[in-house]
Amino acid sequence: MAKRDYYEVLGADRGASADELKKAYRKKAKELHPDRNSDNPNAESQFKEANEAYEVLKDADKKAAYDRYGHAAFEGGMGGGQRQGGNGDFSSAFSDVFEDLFGDFMGGGAQRGGRQRASRGSDLRYNLRISLEDAFVGLQKAITVPTSVSCNSCDGSGAEGGAEPQTCPTCSGMGKVRAQQGFFTVERTCPTCSGVGQIIKNPCRTCGGSGREEKERSLSVNIPAGVETGTRIRLSGEGEAGLRGGPSGDLYIFIEVAEHELFQRDGIDLFCRVPVSMATAAIGGDVEVPTIDGGRSRVKVPAGSQSGRQMRLRAKGMPALRGGGTGDMFIELAVETPVNLTSKQKELLREFEKLSEENNPLLTSFFSKVKSFWADMKN
Ligand SMILES: [Zn+2]
Ligand SMILES: [Zn+2]
Repeated sequence: MAKRDYYEVLGADRGASADELKKAYRKKAKELHPDRNSDNPNAESQFKEANEAYEVLKDADKKAAYDRYGHAAFEGGMGGGQRQGGNGDFSSAFSDVFEDLFGDFMGGGAQRGGRQRASRGSDLRYNLRISLEDAFVGLQKAITVPTSVSCNSCDGSGAEGGAEPQTCPTCSGMGKVRAQQGFFTVERTCPTCSGVGQIIKNPCRTCGGSGREEKERSLSVNIPAGVETGTRIRLSGEGEAGLRGGPSGDLYIFIEVAEHELFQRDGIDLFCRVPVSMATAAIGGDVEVPTIDGGRSRVKVPAGSQSGRQMRLRAKGMPALRGGGTGDMFIELAVETPVNLTSKQKELLREFEKLSEENNPLLTSFFSKVKSFWADMKN
């Protein structure tokens, strides 16, 4: 009998993606599963066929060879790759895909890796939003974390009165049982202990045998000065309690520093935009600027400052998280054009404008550039 096309076997299109091939294979495998085919004598060979097809098509190299040469790719050593999952070696190929495929046939209790006794608790994440001022000085923060903690009544063992759990008699502690299923042997998660390998005769009444209870836990967290958005603080062992006396996970505090209405931050440096009047910018003067520590600094504005001029205040920025000094604060001047003028102010400005005509280096240089630009355009 001629070999069927692998795509046809899986019921997939030639152009099917890896994902689509996987789906097609899963569907076929479920259809052909021994549980549903006790009266179909062809199920086994069809299953093998589907398995062989998928073994080839899931592998990019083998798939390429098959797409090009067809079945000939795997006969007589042409193309790459040795033959896997062929008719000769069905069971080993099957065990590779077994867990992946039939997890959902196992009554939902199937756990990867089989038996689980004491297992580590999950890590927890806690998002904490703080102000820039708090990030500047650091703070001690009380937080409440909903978590599961080791059960008090049974000391986390899950057994009433803290008694030791016993080895499961059904699976002898393996967490899995083997059963003859039609034409081959399958491993199933032990139904007695759900894969744990141990049973508890009298489960703890408080926690129902899990060894954990849900609690709100209060913690005092030390947030060091200099944290920024994205900083993670790990509190070792403060995560979820382990299962049946296993070690606890960790708690991670994820910091978010809120935007500030006066200061922008770049690493350890701060920026502050300070408006100055046209007159101060022209003739020079002092401005008072706020600093992140809540204080103020006087900054000298040099005569003739243009908008956008930056000045640096050394060591007035943020502290570095792990020591290593303090950033600077940069002041950026924003020269304000006066608005809502009185007629007196307008009059003065017109007079000022007249006096400025011959004495304005920026305007003079701009207009001379414009003139030569127009002249060049004419030529
Ligand atoms: Zn068992
Ligand atoms: Zn308990």
